[in-house]
Amino acid sequence: MFEVLAEDLLGRIGRLKVKGKQAETPLFLPVINPVTQSISAKWMKENLGAEAVITNAYIIFKRLRERALEEGVHGILDFDGVIMTDSGGYQVLEYGDVEATPEEIALFEEEIGTDIAVPLDIPTGICGKKKAEESVKKTLKNIEITLNILKEKGVRRALWAAPIQGGTYLDLLQRCAEIEKEMDFDLYALGSPTPLMEGYRFEKLFEMIYVVRVVVGFGRPLHLFGAGHPMIFPFIVALGVDMFDSASYYLYAKDERYITSTGTLRIDRIDYFPCNCPICSNMTPTELREMKKEERTRLIATHNLYACFREIREIKQAIRDGRLMELLEIRARSHPRLYQAFRWIMENEDLLRLMENHTPLSSRRGINLFDRLSLKRPRIRRARRRLMENYFKLSAHEKHLVLIPFNRKIGFEKLKRIVGEDVFEIAYYGTPYGLVPDQLKYTYPFSQTNYPRALIEDASENLAELMIEQLKAGGYERIYVISSRSKHLKELALKLLKALHETGIKSSLIDWD
Ligand SMILES: [Zn+2]
Repeated sequence: MFEVLAEDLLGRIGRLKVKGKQAETPLFLPVINPVTQSISAKWMKENLGAEAVITNAYIIFKRLRERALEEGVHGILDFDGVIMTDSGGYQVLEYGDVEATPEEIALFEEEIGTDIAVPLDIPTGICGKKKAEESVKKTLKNIEITLNILKEKGVRRALWAAPIQGGTYLDLLQRCAEIEKEMDFDLYALGSPTPLMEGYRFEKLFEMIYVVRVVVGFGRPLHLFGAGHPMIFPFIVALGVDMFDSASYYLYAKDERYITSTGTLRIDRIDYFPCNCPICSNMTPTELREMKKEERTRLIATHNLYACFREIREIKQAIRDGRLMELLEIRARSHPRLYQAFRWIMENEDLLRLMENHTPLSSRRGINLFDRLSLKRPRIRRARRRLMENYFKLSAHEKHLVLIPFNRKIGFEKLKRIVGEDVFEIAYYGTPYGLVPDQLKYTYPFSQTNYPRALIEDASENLAELMIEQLKAGGYERIYVISSRSKHLKELALKLLKALHETGIKSSLIDWD
């Protein structure tokens, strides 16, 4: 039912199969109001390649019941892709209660032929702990009722998602997820309180996702309810969210806000459209502003959808290329609060290690590093660790090692003359990986890494330390450091020599020029 095809960080491209239909993750499900259907699911499929949408089973139950039982939810939406139905939990949050039982909603979801169903849950939202505990308790009770009735009637055909509640209380989320993990569900769905998004509290949201992903493991898909703005899409995917819904394309449009991959623009302040979608290509901002409100909303919503789907494609390509972290580094600059949340990721040792384990050894694209934060990337950590464990610690090493600046080429014979030795190893310094042995210089990732000189300057302390560790692990007795013409490598060599002096390993600087 779910197959992972490619991974990067905790993000994955996967294939979700349900009732003979397929959809690829990370999967974005636009929210469709079944009554108004301002932009139809069919249009989204034909123009945006939408493979799945989400709609609300409770609204259909209340307002379109007869038609739904006749035509099914696919008939109502005129859509033959994957349809997920939310249960009505959101209405509980908005209006306090729903006029339906968990049994009614569960059987109704199966009857109308939904592909991915959610039991009637009680979203936690932002509230006090006591109320949050209550919502978890009620949700767990409801889902038990739901699983029982489905079993009793023998009607379970949809994939069923376990709604994980607990709001921003990590201990509640954890407990809820632990209990649901033992139950018979096909996927998990985390409730994300809307105020978190509106308040730009991304760090809290990321923590919630991380806690849940670790508890439920990686076997089944994880859905996030109400993912909001596309600028957080790459982050939630990198934290292990496989699918998510969002109504923001429409809500923002109603509010005259135009979505870009890094933020929103107010329609009345746009001079030029930074987008090539059919809407933005065919009119000017002034023309859009002159339209009637309803038409303008529809057009902005359409553009907003294009922006969301564009971001998904970019994320998928980044996963395939092993460049998801690079995308995060770029997107983190969209907003200071997002940058802060990104820093939380980069300072979370356990999370980085987990990401490292899910990052493939090689990738078909080179690595671009920018600053010291880039050095914490799982891919870099992994390369450094392998270098240490499979080379410096493992191989039998010569007693003597000659270190050459990474940007220089010196023939072996010449080197023998300069050093005055016959037997020695060669390694290169001035790389983000510390020392790179001669025989690995032209392998991935060492030969495919691009970085500015400033990175080596800024990280020189860290790099000197790393090189010392590598030299100690290799058990070398004497180090010859060939000097460099570049100022930053000269300084790095001096730092290394100073540190070497403290370790007692014999070393000398050879001034080559
Ligand atoms: Zn556009």
